Amino acid sequence: MTPAGRKAVLLGSGELGKEVAIELQRMGVEVVACDKYANAPAMQVAHRNHVFSMLDAQRLREVIEEERPDHIIPEIEAIATPELVELEKEGFNVTPTARAARLTMNREGIRRLAAEELGVPTSPYRFASTREEFEDAIKEIGLPCVVKPVMSSSGHGQSTVKTPADIDAAWREAQEGGRAGAGRVIVEGFVDFDYEITLLTVRSCSGTTFCEPIGHHQVNGDYRESWQPQPMSATAIGQAREIARKVTDALGGYGIFGVELFIKGDNVIFSEVSPRPHDTGMVTMISQDLSEFGLHARALLGLPVPSIRFYGPSASKAIVVEGNTDTVEFENLEEVLAEEGVQMRIFGKPEIRGHRRMGVILATDDTVEKALAKAERAYSKLRVKVK
Ligand code: AMP
Repeated sequence: MTPAGRKAVLLGSGELGKEVAIELQRMGVEVVACDKYANAPAMQVAHRNHVFSMLDAQRLREVIEEERPDHIIPEIEAIATPELVELEKEGFNVTPTARAARLTMNREGIRRLAAEELGVPTSPYRFASTREEFEDAIKEIGLPCVVKPVMSSSGHGQSTVKTPADIDAAWREAQEGGRAGAGRVIVEGFVDFDYEITLLTVRSCSGTTFCEPIGHHQVNGDYRESWQPQPMSATAIGQAREIARKVTDALGGYGIFGVELFIKGDNVIFSEVSPRPHDTGMVTMISQDLSEFGLHARALLGLPVPSIRFYGPSASKAIVVEGNTDTVEFENLEEVLAEEGVQMRIFGKPEIRGHRRMGVILATDDTVEKALAKAERAYSKLRVKVK
């Protein structure tokens, strides 16, 4: 909070941003949190905050020009990324790069980069802007296929088309569920994977470092539980790292990336990448000496990441709450936290409209199976009261 100090502006202030804010503050950085609503999780631990839509390019520029941060850190996908590209040209530092934020905001940008420029294996895909193009795309890809708005995350607007009877609903779902409203969709061939992973990949001044692979379960495109390490064959982990290195090298800059991959036998297929901490990576808050948030902070500050110490099998379980309320109470925590090796984070989100991830339970044990069972046991003790 002096002219000599380092300052970071977080664009997006959810639970992942909150942990990044804490890690930055541990290194003495001044943190300014931004999001479209007041009292967002990262705002609760930041020095200051600004409330505005991250898609509002003009307001974004005003805030950056007023704050003049050393680091602009995107924490969500939906940002006026062309403005970030301009700000970077003017000398501002965007984590990991403005181009990475721009390419990954839209599924089309990252998919074309990975498949068409880098030659990385992906599911077959087509893009469609109109109903006619959509039907053609489905014919070309074949059934079953997965339909997603090009601008979406956490399963919003996503569905699987198994029979021709599902086509109508998939189009409607994608038009209603996308972040930017109705628009372009991606139609992907359904990948019949054995399991899927997030390979957290850190680019720092020490080079590229990989975390142990994280396995996860998704419900309607939204993560519910993750575990680390996901057992993999030597061939599969080798391929996964090669793909992750290729994609993250192409995006460049310093920071952590969540590289999402599907694995079938020894074959690895690239799905997508977040140039920032990943929700499934919350498990690293209990499984590593430096969590994905600590690693992100270290890397983006230009500091070395010589190694990552993995403590052992661990699991995370998302606390997803349904309701329409601004009063949520978490009860029975004495029981939730009674077993050794269990931790919990409550994000402090001010309200719920529909369903929302409000916290996470973390557990460690001798094996991944035991860690998952322990997290599940702790979760079953949790009582969430929604008024
Ligand atoms: P995404 O938002 O693209 O990460 O998709 C969310 C989740 O949906 C993934 O983690 C997978 O579990 C599932 N999914 C997405 N695309 C496909 C696909 N082409 N084939 C099978 N499952 C998919």
